[in-house]
Amino acid sequence: MTEPCDVLVIGAGPAGLAAARAAASHGVNVVLVDLQANPGGQIWRHDVRKSAPAAARLAVAEMRARSNLHWLPQAQVVATAPGRVLIEEAGLVREIEYGALVLATGARELLLPFPGWTLPGVSGAGALQALTKQGWPIAGKRVLLAGSGPLLLASAATLRRHGAQVLAICEQAPDAALMAFASQLWRWPGKLLQAAALRTRLAGVAYRRASWVRAAHGDERVREVEIESARGIERIACDQVAVGYGLVPNTELAAQLGCALELDGRHPRVRVDERLMTSVDGVYAAGEACGIGGVDVARVEGAMAGHAAAGADDAARALRPRRRHARAFADLLPRYFDLRDDVRKLAEPTTLVCRCEDVALAQLQGYSDARAAKLATRCGMGSCQGRICGTALTELGLLVPATRAHAARPPVFPTRLASLAAAGSYLDRSCSERTFLTESKGSV
Ligand SMILES: Cc1cc2nc3c(=O)[nH]c(=O)nc-3n(C[C@H](O)[C@H](O)[C@H](O)COP(=O)(O)OP(=O)(O)OC[C@H]3O[C@@H](n4cnc5c(N)ncnc54)[C@H](O)[C@@H]3O)c2cc1C
Repeated sequence: MTEPCDVLVIGAGPAGLAAARAAASHGVNVVLVDLQANPGGQIWRHDVRKSAPAAARLAVAEMRARSNLHWLPQAQVVATAPGRVLIEEAGLVREIEYGALVLATGARELLLPFPGWTLPGVSGAGALQALTKQGWPIAGKRVLLAGSGPLLLASAATLRRHGAQVLAICEQAPDAALMAFASQLWRWPGKLLQAAALRTRLAGVAYRRASWVRAAHGDERVREVEIESARGIERIACDQVAVGYGLVPNTELAAQLGCALELDGRHPRVRVDERLMTSVDGVYAAGEACGIGGVDVARVEGAMAGHAAAGADDAARALRPRRRHARAFADLLPRYFDLRDDVRKLAEPTTLVCRCEDVALAQLQGYSDARAAKLATRCGMGSCQGRICGTALTELGLLVPATRAHAARPPVFPTRLASLAAAGSYLDRSCSERTFLTESKGSV
């Protein structure tokens, strides 16, 4: 079944919601797709304990009120071709043809391997926050958070609200960098207020600067975590360890569509022009996919991309000053939360890097190309499709990041064989056999 729409928006986070709303306000027919059951993306993820903030409620209410905006939940885009995408939804596939496309695919956490990181009870900081919001029982558990960036504070606040005993937050950035970051916040009063609110909610929780997790220890699950700082090495007993080193843009769909990517530090992001158009005509990108920027960037860029995709260039242009201001805040993050080399050197030769396929660091030495590493070791062939291990290896400097167009091949997510079979004709048209048949074996 092929369905047409004027504007297709992929991703219902703050950027995608704003894009869909802006496009729909011009009367065009809009489809908004997200693999989650609820709209809101990462920051506005449905929380079983707490109602969403007013901005999120408004964005969702406006989305639902528009008769020309069609919302497709639990639908993931698994493959793309010029002018159309293949979606898997409730085990069925459908093809959507679009006039213009807005990619608002967001970001994922950067996880770095360290001894013990595969023990049950060790997770990403954002991942534990997401699980907790969805009802994972955390009450009474002793949790230590570590890594880098503002997400650690947001995750800690969520965990505490759900009854966790937050032992400490270990931030790898040095004191001077954090002070310099804080001294800039007055230029973004909203961020300053947010930081103050988080500090209040985390009163009594130790915020340790220039300290990082070296290893996690335990038997069938984590029991202790080893922290390094200027004070030396310390062991802390805990039930849960949550470690995140910031965020990395999700660029796979853009790459598949042939959109040019560019490096943002060590990782790729989607390259866009002032109108938020990618290098492919009619394909726009907004929010974290274009570089980590936070919710304010996501919202304004989403609105700009939505207006532009609906052909309302003046409305999009009017938002440029707001975008510049929001992006200026985003530029502070890599400068002040720059990762120290110590955290890139934690993995030992026997430490598993690819958790899906059990591939250790030593097995990956000598490959600088993701494809060669994958063919020789199966690294990246599992359910994460290289999103965790490939990103970690890039951060460790062992893989060259893929920034060329068409670097990512379908399917983006592990896909049912039945969907692939049903989509046979689509795939014949959209992918060369060369790419699809070799790459899909590990993921179906
Ligand atoms: C785990 C995590 C937790 C976070 N928690 C916070 C927080 O508490 N506070 C905070 O200020 N910031 C948080 N952030 C940062 C947050 O991502 C941004 O501030 C903001 O949400 C970015 O908005 P966005 O719309 O660009 O992307 P996102 O909010 O990430 O939305 C992207 C959406 O695209 C969908 N998507 C991606 N690929 C596909 C596909 N192929 N098919 C269908 N749908 C797809 C995803 O399901 C997602 O809903 C978090 C980030 C992560 C990764």
